[in-house]
Amino acid sequence: MVEKRKPVPVKEAIERVMKRVTQLEKETVPLHEAYGRILAEPVRASHHVPPFDRSPYDGFAVRSADTQGASGETRVAFRVIDHIGAGAVSKCTVGEQEAVRIMTGAPLPAGADAVVMLEQAVIDEDAFTIRKPFGPLENVSLKGEDAREGEIIAEAGTFINPGVVAVLATFGYAKVTVSKKPVVGLLATGTELVEAGEPLQPGKIRNSNGPMIAAQLARMGIGCRLLGSLPDDEDACFELVKKAAAECDVVITTGGVSVGDFDFLPAVYKRLEADVLFNKVQMRPGSVTTVAHTDNTFLFGLSGNPSACFVGFELFTRPAILAMMGNRKPFLPYEKAVLDDDYTKPNPFNRFIRAVYESTPAGARVRPAGFNKSNSVTSIARGNAFIVLPGGTRGFQKGDEVDVLIIGSEEGVSSWELN
Ligand code: AMP
Ligand code: MG
Repeated sequence: MVEKRKPVPVKEAIERVMKRVTQLEKETVPLHEAYGRILAEPVRASHHVPPFDRSPYDGFAVRSADTQGASGETRVAFRVIDHIGAGAVSKCTVGEQEAVRIMTGAPLPAGADAVVMLEQAVIDEDAFTIRKPFGPLENVSLKGEDAREGEIIAEAGTFINPGVVAVLATFGYAKVTVSKKPVVGLLATGTELVEAGEPLQPGKIRNSNGPMIAAQLARMGIGCRLLGSLPDDEDACFELVKKAAAECDVVITTGGVSVGDFDFLPAVYKRLEADVLFNKVQMRPGSVTTVAHTDNTFLFGLSGNPSACFVGFELFTRPAILAMMGNRKPFLPYEKAVLDDDYTKPNPFNRFIRAVYESTPAGARVRPAGFNKSNSVTSIARGNAFIVLPGGTRGFQKGDEVDVLIIGSEEGVSSWELN
């Protein structure tokens, strides 16, 4: 008898997964390896930025009081008493009608409180004149205007983007405390599978899910243990998944989670005494996506159908892995866009359509990325987003506004808002 499964709504399935997440430990990496990791501790400003009042321009540091009354008719003259570049400190104190020639980034000399840009001066050897008055602190970058000492610049759980790297360097973090990456094992199941380097034979297809998931992980900065592919054999699957579960934080399998005669993953979960969080989701494609948990290991049973496998990974595996690393924005970013094509298929379940999203000056547009069945592989290649159509609708027309999830962004959002 075919087992009766109870489909759970997508939102609830995601919640069940996220509830089971436990955070990985911390580790320290050198700054040059920190890009793409998740901060495990907040970044605090260890000093003011800038650390001193400085000139944002190449020019002359002067006393603003001495510039008063300057105009096109009455030019005011200054005498240059010193000359410094960035990194140097002038020993001079600027006095009446005196100036220090100063380059961008150099500290303002004592006495001065304004900077005349080179372009604002008519220069004649060691003297120059100006034609406008300068106010106190005009053209001056003030100490602490960018960051105050002690201020938190980035919270724990922040994705380390190039800007965060710059901040870490600014404050002298030569080593950075980040979350460890999970150990992920990847196994493709199916007697029909051959690898990319092998010739096709009657009845066989190439294993595209394995390399695809490895690439989806790589896009998140995460490597994986390639456990290869296995024929549909319950004992072999059980032994390998059991071994992988003991060694990995996450084990991803593709195929074999349905109710067919050769779908052995449900039996494997049973033998492992894993806690199956769900084995049917109210969505297309990927309704058979199964997530289970054993001791400390997540088991993601993704469908063998390539599009379904891809969707299942992006919806469940990706946020779980990001949350394990403490990432506070683990979900795909969400947009609204105008549908560029009719999509008249009725939707009993939520549908995640591989799509081409384009943000134009005239607004965001989206269209299905070609052949879109759950077994499609080409639409994954052509798409950069999912159109999300809610279940219980009769289809959509060109011009309708639809929900879109953007795939491949480095940074996501903190909550899942769709049903
Ligand atoms: P399954 O989920 O095992 O029932 O597989 C569903 C469909 O996906 C079948 O047509 C399989 O041949 C196909 N399939 C399974 N595994 C893979 C894979 N690793 N790469 C590409 N297609 C696959
Ligand atoms: Mg199969």
